[in-house]
Amino acid sequence: MDFSDLGLTAELLEAINAEGYTTPTPIQAQAIPAVLEGHDLLASAQTGTGKTAGFGLPLLQRLDRGRPAKSRQVRSLVLAPTRELAAQVGKDIATYGAGLKLRTQVIFGGVGQNPQVEALKRGVDILIATPGRLLDLHQQGHVDLSSLEILVLDEADRMLDMGFIHDIKRLLRLMPTRRQNLLFSATFSNDIQALAKQLLDNPKQIDV
Ligand code: AMP
Repeated sequence: MDFSDLGLTAELLEAINAEGYTTPTPIQAQAIPAVLEGHDLLASAQTGTGKTAGFGLPLLQRLDRGRPAKSRQVRSLVLAPTRELAAQVGKDIATYGAGLKLRTQVIFGGVGQNPQVEALKRGVDILIATPGRLLDLHQQGHVDLSSLEILVLDEADRMLDMGFIHDIKRLLRLMPTRRQNLLFSATFSNDIQALAKQLLDNPKQIDV
């Protein structure tokens, strides 16, 4: 199995090559074609499996085909439990998407919100955020999630463990019902299964 068998564009294959990746990891081999085809995804994957590229690469490719985000709009949202994970995912996606014209922004609490607000004003194609700060900014009128195309929940089990379920549910109500949903979790408690059932439409399941 080679990255060029997965349906990725030349720009993204170049980025992968520049990173020195030669072979897709098992989760990448399964997730990339499924996400490119527009499927919802339920993926069981630990950190270190290459899950970020598994959703990041096809996310970039799908968004690259559409129209850029208008002011305050967000086209895709990656929710992450911690600022460290949000920052790492943002960095990885910015690297993979360096050859594309998509706008990526990371948002988390504990730092000044002005640069985050300024970025939102210009519109964001890929927003990587922790739930609390994103809700704060929404309540202040800085974010419009009504045209969201793709939602990713990264480390969903950790988000539930940290008590983010109510924030996540409030955010879901701000999104259009027709969208693509990708859920990544290392474990599958009853709570995660309930969330998956509410969120996902006929998902492809991946276990690695
Ligand atoms: P992740 O599980 O997404 O946190 O990725 C773990 C690490 O593996 C990161 O440092 C990635 O840069 C790296 N990585 C991701 N995909 C590949 C690949 N196909 N080949 C080699 N390294 C990779």
